[in-house]
Amino acid sequence: MGRRRPEGGKVSATALLLDEVEEGLSRRQLKLDPAHLELGEGEFHLVGPLQVGLRLNRSGQNFQLEARLQGRLEGECCRCLEPVGQELEAVLQVLLQRQPLGEDEREAAEEDEDVELLAPGDKQADLKERLREAVLLELPLRMYCRQDCKGLCAECGHNLNTGACGCATAQGDPRWSALRDVKLS
Ligand SMILES: [Zn+2]
Ligand SMILES: [Zn+2]
Repeated sequence: MGRRRPEGGKVSATALLLDEVEEGLSRRQLKLDPAHLELGEGEFHLVGPLQVGLRLNRSGQNFQLEARLQGRLEGECCRCLEPVGQELEAVLQVLLQRQPLGEDEREAAEEDEDVELLAPGDKQADLKERLREAVLLELPLRMYCRQDCKGLCAECGHNLNTGACGCATAQGDPRWSALRDVKLS
């Protein structure tokens, strides 16, 4: 969300430069490389840039921010292991407060997880952790190529979505085979 400033150091890609935010309502569209969120090694990965729609409402030293992230998630089907992808959408809402607060106000703000307190001299707010959490919340536990994916044959590994294999019908519940062998006398 930031940009590189030629004169001084690098601004994190997830930082909001507070003094550049205009008073009142403003919107921005940005692209964010998912690598900046350091999501770690998961079963699924985000490909391509995340599209970030940013809605800001500044009132003095209060910055109400809403970020909508959209990206594409890729991984494999948990049943048949074929590659699958799906869209991912995450929303972050936070109120950034950059002003001195009274003790009561401060306590209330610290308890509210949708509020982030900034020091009066802060030039930027790094949203990395909050964006990261918002995305992690939306990651599915599992992905399926389709709802009724038949998975792989436990015997031969054949993808049963493409048709039956020879061993599929020969299987049976082994618990019953013992009974089948009992001869009634
Ligand atoms: Zn599948
Ligand atoms: Zn088989």
